[in-house]
Amino acid sequence: RQELYRELRKKPSKTKDGVHVDLLMNAGLAVDLPQLAEAGAAGIGLFRTELQFMVASTFPRAEAQERLYRDVLDAAEGKPVTFRTIDIGGDKVLPYFKGSLHEENPALGWRAIRLTLDRPGLLRSQIRALLKAAGGRELKVMLPMVTELGEIARAREIMDREVRHLSRFAHHLPTSLKLGAMIEVPSLLWQVDELMQAVDFVSVGSNDLFQFVMATDRGNTQLSDRFDPLSVPFLRVLKHIADAGKRNHTPVTLCGEMAGRPISAMALTGIGYRSISMSPASIGPVKAMLAELPVGELKAFMDDNLSSHAVDLPMRALLQAFADDR
Ligand code: PEP
Ligand code: MG
Repeated sequence: RQELYRELRKKPSKTKDGVHVDLLMNAGLAVDLPQLAEAGAAGIGLFRTELQFMVASTFPRAEAQERLYRDVLDAAEGKPVTFRTIDIGGDKVLPYFKGSLHEENPALGWRAIRLTLDRPGLLRSQIRALLKAAGGRELKVMLPMVTELGEIARAREIMDREVRHLSRFAHHLPTSLKLGAMIEVPSLLWQVDELMQAVDFVSVGSNDLFQFVMATDRGNTQLSDRFDPLSVPFLRVLKHIADAGKRNHTPVTLCGEMAGRPISAMALTGIGYRSISMSPASIGPVKAMLAELPVGELKAFMDDNLSSHAVDLPMRALLQAFADDR
């Protein structure tokens, strides 16, 4: 198998019937960067910038942030990189950050974009570091845990101000600047068209989205086998997003853990995803799966099953059988 994955590394990621699917990798630290070439990823679909903050003993200085972002872009050699602004709070606590109170429900609490909009100095210095590191190159910035569109507008204001500031001081600016949002809070599902008009791209954080749609703590081992992302209701949610992406011509990626499991990656391809981001070790197995997948057939199969009134269909078993038959 390892031999097969190595052979596939340089090959384009295409289904058996010739549909291209972008396979990107998730990363968060400089040590992850060599994996970009080793795994044959098309780029970094999710760079978790909070990891630099989590391994440090104090807030990383602006220079250290800028250096890391520059190293990431250098290592990517022109392949696309999506930097997510710091996603702290919830289960990701910084021991040196004294701003947060004890929370009864940290997953639903003061975290991610909520926290950084309340501490705009944090967001501003991170965005400035990103803009400087990406001088002369493309920059993609993504906001975590967006709940309402006003949060995007406020983050965009901060970004625009930093751009004006840097250009006033004759800094080399990025050649293009794209702002995206993660879809991980269910409120966005009922404003998905407006969301897509407000951003340049979206990425589905299926770990958190599943947790919130199913009201199931993602870290609770007692519940970990109870509900399935490959169930009719959750697959309908994911398809609703993919369909909205097509309608609005907005690029959609999915960067939660399910992207890295071949059976789930297969289901995602069947409901219209053409870009998924995963841990580097999953790229070989997912690419091998795609090479044998007749996605046209799978699409018809998924459309049938997801539009049926039998919402308790055993989708995982049906997908497994589809895969085994082919
Ligand atoms: C997600 O929620 O699916 C995601 C990709 O972000 P994280 O796992 O870092 O919360
Ligand atoms: Mg998340």
